[in-house]
Amino acid sequence: MTSSLRSWFIGRMVSVLAIGLLAGWLVDQIFLGLFITTLSYLVWNHHQLHRLLRWLDEAAHKELDPPESKGIWGEIFDGIYRIQRRHSRSKQRLANVIERIQESTAALNDGIIMADQNGCLEWWNRAAGELLGLQMPDDQGQPLTNLVRNPKFASYMENSRGKEPIKIDSPAHENRQLQIAITVYGQGNRLLLVRDVSRLHQLEIMRTDFVANVSHELRTPLTVISGYLETMSDGMEMNPDTPPMFKRALSQMQEQASRMQRLIEDLLLLSRLEATEPERISQTVKLKPLLLGIINDAKALSGENQHQLQLECAEDASVTGDAMELRSAFSNLVYNAIRYTPSGGKVHVKWWQDPEGGHLMIQDNGVGIDPVHIPRLTERFYRVDKSRSHATGGTGLGLAIVKHVLLRHEGRISISSHPGKGSRFICHFPLSRINSTKVIQAKEPDI
Ligand code: ADP
Repeated sequence: MTSSLRSWFIGRMVSVLAIGLLAGWLVDQIFLGLFITTLSYLVWNHHQLHRLLRWLDEAAHKELDPPESKGIWGEIFDGIYRIQRRHSRSKQRLANVIERIQESTAALNDGIIMADQNGCLEWWNRAAGELLGLQMPDDQGQPLTNLVRNPKFASYMENSRGKEPIKIDSPAHENRQLQIAITVYGQGNRLLLVRDVSRLHQLEIMRTDFVANVSHELRTPLTVISGYLETMSDGMEMNPDTPPMFKRALSQMQEQASRMQRLIEDLLLLSRLEATEPERISQTVKLKPLLLGIINDAKALSGENQHQLQLECAEDASVTGDAMELRSAFSNLVYNAIRYTPSGGKVHVKWWQDPEGGHLMIQDNGVGIDPVHIPRLTERFYRVDKSRSHATGGTGLGLAIVKHVLLRHEGRISISSHPGKGSRFICHFPLSRINSTKVIQAKEPDI
């Protein structure tokens, strides 16, 4: 109670008592006078309380002016009325904001869904309902994974932190592809953004089909040309009168033809990796024999350059996946190490496991790469030094193939390098892809 209210209250009580005393004195019945005035005051207060309750009751349904009253009761009525007005104004403001948000999200072409901690539907906009076939109000409160039955979506709903958005087929429309991105907020609530990427998907398919078809069509004429070049080369070898200029030209033609063949093989492999889903049932790929085979081929590639190759890998180390794809990725990295390391250089191949997963490192002490190039290194045809790459016979697709193979094995690549000192490429595989139970705690060696 504020001090002014308290003094008003005391003043009012004193006046009531004084009136009672005066009335009692006039009729010579002091106690009767006091009793009657106090009772009348109580009855009046009770009446005002009753008016207040009736007004509050009626004002809950419609806006009503407060009852007329003077004094403290007048102030109480006005005070409550002012609070009510303020409250209803801010309620109206909030309702307007919500309405505007709902109107703008309803007008969006992208779907927005709000789900609670258990992944149950709380709210969605018109586009989300259309793209995923959600029905209002039947689906409200239903677990989203019951309505969108897709294993990829279920695992993304379970754990979306730090993961890229996923692409799935629309459960409501044939031939429509959706991209879904989940953001976790508050107490594990989820906000889902759903985009129709059918057109992009179609273009992507057209692009990979085009590359695959062109590569395929080029394969046959190139095989014929290479075959004739080989026959002509054999003929020239036998003929001592062949001018040296012809010999040089023929050897260059053979070199370029085999480069084109390698390029076509890489393009075909890359479009297959992009266009097809990874095999669901994968093999257990033993790493030691696979890496030994690659090292042997690398020795042949090194030839007179006498690179020193070192392999460290446990006998039972293995990865669940596709042996051909893994061979292709690892060999690309090992052959690159040979190609970009001068004669006599060292190439170290090492496999180890830790609580995070399995890791294959391919490290060399060759020419190295300027760190500015590293983020773009796995792009198709990205080359640090075009002339050097041509000299080594590279296709510019090796690291793009490595990246795709690792993605198909739920892995990733990390690259570190210092120009002039060497490079280190590490392929990381998650624990779920490793079959060996033996965990070797190993520290990555310095370059
Ligand atoms: P390329 O067929 O040209 O070698 P890649 O995709 O395999 O294409 O590699 C891309 C580029 O990365 C290469 O052109 C090369 O400049 C660089 N690179 C790859 N591996 C190494 C390495 N071990 N040492 C130095 N540079 C490398």
